[in-house]
Amino acid sequence: MLNLILFGPPGAGKGTQAEFLIESFGLIHLSTGDLLRQEIAAETKLGKEAKQLMDKGELVPDHVVIEMIKNKFAAHPEANGFIFDGFPRTVAQAKALDVLLEENKTPIKAMLCLEVEKQELIDRILFRGKTSGRSDDQDVWIIEKRISVYNKKTAPIKEYYEAQNKHYPIDGMGRVEEIASRLENTVRSL
Ligand code: ADP
Repeated sequence: MLNLILFGPPGAGKGTQAEFLIESFGLIHLSTGDLLRQEIAAETKLGKEAKQLMDKGELVPDHVVIEMIKNKFAAHPEANGFIFDGFPRTVAQAKALDVLLEENKTPIKAMLCLEVEKQELIDRILFRGKTSGRSDDQDVWIIEKRISVYNKKTAPIKEYYEAQNKHYPIDGMGRVEEIASRLENTVRSL
């Protein structure tokens, strides 16, 4: 199995690049953001609670997203591998993911971290907000909040994977196709 984490701040292009990696390596895409938005669209209790936090730029509680990931992971026993997008977002989530993958004897191969300048992130999210319909993409203050939550709670995970020699920084500036080939070359060299 080829298990990859696609990591980076909000607006770094994880969803866009995940599409290319899925295509090239036949992976299953597990995006906690997408899973949460499905819950919101279905108007479940979980979705309603998550929306309140997401609209403020806050993280959803660890146990909620860990449970979602466990369920989706178990639903694909035939998979060639998984691409985790938007997860893990805290060190507690990273540890829970390691436990899950150890139980299934299929560890993370690499954590691919897209590096993008802050102003570019804001510009990309505002541009996406024109068509995404996402309420958290509309307001600069919420976007700033998401970036600051990323820097405080999520970026420290880099050290967690660095200690396992699995952290691969990738230049996330430039054309979509250029970034896709940087990612693909890195994965091929693993
Ligand atoms: P982005 O990477 O652009 O912020 P996502 O779709 O990954 O977009 O996430 C949107 C929101 O969903 C986050 O701001 C957060 O509130 C919530 N969320 C997604 N994944 C997680 C997670 N692993 N842990 C906690 N909250 C999450």
